Amino acid sequence: MARIVIKKSSYFHNLDLLSKKAGGKDKLMAVIKDNAYGHGLELMAQLASEFGISKAAVKTLEEALHVEQFFKEVLILADHPPTELYSQNISFAVHSFEFLKKFPKKSNIHLNIDTGMHRNGVGMSELKDVLIYIKENALNLKGIFTHFRSADDFNSELFWQQENWKKAKKESLVILKELEMKRPFFHSCNSSALLRSKGGIEDDFARCGIATYGYTHIDKNIATFDLQPVMSLYVNRLSTRVLKKGQKVGYGGVHLAQNDKIISTYDIGYGDGFFRYDGLGDLAIANGQKILGRVSMDSLCIEGDRDEICLFNDVNNLSAYFNTITYEILTKLMPWIKREVE
Ligand SMILES: *Cc1c(COP(=O)(O)O)cnc(C)c1O
Repeated sequence: MARIVIKKSSYFHNLDLLSKKAGGKDKLMAVIKDNAYGHGLELMAQLASEFGISKAAVKTLEEALHVEQFFKEVLILADHPPTELYSQNISFAVHSFEFLKKFPKKSNIHLNIDTGMHRNGVGMSELKDVLIYIKENALNLKGIFTHFRSADDFNSELFWQQENWKKAKKESLVILKELEMKRPFFHSCNSSALLRSKGGIEDDFARCGIATYGYTHIDKNIATFDLQPVMSLYVNRLSTRVLKKGQKVGYGGVHLAQNDKIISTYDIGYGDGFFRYDGLGDLAIANGQKILGRVSMDSLCIEGDRDEICLFNDVNNLSAYFNTITYEILTKLMPWIKREVE
């Protein structure tokens, strides 16, 4: 059976690098949404907690309920307002005033402020009304945050948005004082913004996903970083045959044998979330061998007859090949593929 191997030492190496950048383990929130970017939700929650991380971000309430035992704070980034209250360590991100009005009293919330991404968040002009509403409706404001749109890019956009965030924080603090409300956590950085920061961060913590798994898309003109990919994908042999000179293998017969060769199929395909390679290019697997012909729904073909093959231990070349980002290659891997720690 195909299996995903999680290298614990690499995950800890990345968490160490990032928590030092942030100024301590308590200043790092591990983003484990979407099945921990395909790495396995509970497994990565357990490892993050073992390392000493006490805060995590997930996508849904369902994910939060699976991992709340491991953390002091679990922030749900992209789910709908709940109809009842959950434990004290579970909070919901609030993305608009309209959305806020649907939360039951006493809900734990982190308020998203729009500082320029214009995807989610309340505007600066509504901030006061929003905070008054939070106070009057006895919602528990645990955090105020924002998200940067251009932290990877080689231009000044990040700095512009960080200035907006500074203003938003300042203004929030003034209003909170006026309303005699408690100071919540402030947070803004994702992986790239944290990696680009120098000498710690002013916020209470950073929310890091992709870099904890060993990747960054920060423009190489800015800097490169010592991150270690955490996931490897191993596949196992289903069947073996001789492909004779002139025969073709797989859908469309895209791969033509120039001479007799032994070929085998392996147990992963696009139905398992591995990208559907069309067999026309020169996509290499971890050991440099080529995938022969098109990837099928449940299998793919490689020369030889080894029982187990490492398909990848780094997805940078896959994401470049498919003109996407490492996030997409990783999150697509289906939850039914077995995950193991090494
Ligand atoms: C996914 C997400 C993150 C993590 O981003 P990375 O680039 O993976 O570090 C941080 N904050 C929010 C709001 C997110 O949705």
